[in-house]
Amino acid sequence: MNIAVIGAGGAGLACARLLRDDARVTLFERDPDLGGHARSLPIEVDGVTVHAETGFKYLMLPSHRRTMAWLALHGVPVRRFNSDASLTWEAEGATFVLPPRSLRHVARLLGNPRKLPYLVGLALFKHLTRKIVEEDRWEPTLAEFTHPLLPKDFASGFLQPFFGASWGASSSVIGGFPICDVVRVLPKGVAVAYDVHGGTSAYVAAVTAALTGVEVRTACPVTALRPDGSGVQVTSAAGVERFDRVVLALPGQHAVALLDEWPEWRAVTGQVRTFPTHIVIHSDPAYMPADPRDWCVVNQFHRDGEAFLTEWCGWLERRPVFRTWLPEGRPMPANVHYAGQFDHLVVTPSSIAMQKRIASLQGTGGLYAAGMYVTEVDIHESALASALDVVAAIAPDSAGVRDYRAAIAGGRMPAIQAH
Ligand SMILES: Cc1cc2nc3c(=O)[nH]c(=O)nc-3n(C[C@H](O)[C@H](O)[C@H](O)COP(=O)(O)OP(=O)(O)OC[C@H]3O[C@@H](n4cnc5c(N)ncnc54)[C@H](O)[C@@H]3O)c2cc1C
Repeated sequence: MNIAVIGAGGAGLACARLLRDDARVTLFERDPDLGGHARSLPIEVDGVTVHAETGFKYLMLPSHRRTMAWLALHGVPVRRFNSDASLTWEAEGATFVLPPRSLRHVARLLGNPRKLPYLVGLALFKHLTRKIVEEDRWEPTLAEFTHPLLPKDFASGFLQPFFGASWGASSSVIGGFPICDVVRVLPKGVAVAYDVHGGTSAYVAAVTAALTGVEVRTACPVTALRPDGSGVQVTSAAGVERFDRVVLALPGQHAVALLDEWPEWRAVTGQVRTFPTHIVIHSDPAYMPADPRDWCVVNQFHRDGEAFLTEWCGWLERRPVFRTWLPEGRPMPANVHYAGQFDHLVVTPSSIAMQKRIASLQGTGGLYAAGMYVTEVDIHESALASALDVVAAIAPDSAGVRDYRAAIAGGRMPAIQAH
């Protein structure tokens, strides 16, 4: 079988890797580099390299079990860290550290009766929404969350800016997200997180090295698709070719432009909505809490019901490398290493209907869709889950699928690099 995989983010790479022994695979990537949202930049400060992520970084358990198994299968180690957080209310000049690391932090929390109920509410939020997640209910939304024990404005005054900052979204956009989408990503218990040792580009390099026999074409966008008998004609910078099957592993909002000849596919991918998020990697401490003793991995800044976030990328290395999700109206930080824009998925209660529709269309007209918007919630895990489903549908006896499923079922973890 002759298969085209379009898009080489996490989903496309996984499809190509899992199909490599079962089909003749050609992987088309629009950009000069593979990886899509998985891309890290090595930034050297005083002889130490910090691998700053432009896109995906955080791996949590249990939400990233498939990702952990995938990293383990490719021999890619991870680092483990406590993803602590500081929250600064800019108008009041008050910074809180969660969990508190010193008596100063505890005293500040207890001494602020106005903010304390929000922070206690945050600690309880996962517990209070447990049933919604267990029952896999895609309603209610974050903006609809209320609880008699919590302040009346808990959702609009705190929850929406808090999660908005985490997603790089405005409060109104994140307010429409289903509670179950947001909560699913939270870690179990305290905020233990993992990231890829050497950055996600090391992960992309390891998967790419395993693409034996796959024809990889970078800087080669696919510009048109047409039905061709029982197969599909693919037009790209490399010319026009026929494939038996095509995996659409590019974002849904890009796929829609290729699907004129498949109205059902076009209608469903046309439902994908995104919002832009501006990422700046820099070394400007003005985008961190004023007192370095309050610096955490995650640092949120709240003002007028909105919030944004600066991540301390160089936290483990103790180096001043930061990533800010820069909201509109804020000046550019100084000492910029990278600035870019990503499209982030808007998830709403109707997203689940879209996913079900995609599931029912898989394989029709020779087309399959993979990517983080296709299954579950909007994280790397969903990209891999969708790839596994697609490959299992195309090649049910695939050894790659069997081995990967066994690694997931066995709870396989990558090596954890000491630091
Ligand atoms: C800033 C940011 C931070 C994130 N942080 C996290 C995180 O911490 N943890 C987490 O789990 N997830 C995170 N995510 C979600 C992340 O998007 C997913 O983890 C996942 O990497 C998406 O993979 P994908 O393959 O679905 O899509 P993408 O990575 O977007 O890959 C799609 C690929 O298709 C290519 N393409 C587009 N059009 C064409 C065309 N016409 N022809 C050929 N190729 C084309 C693109 O160039 C791209 O390489 C983050 C996302 C963003 C934007």
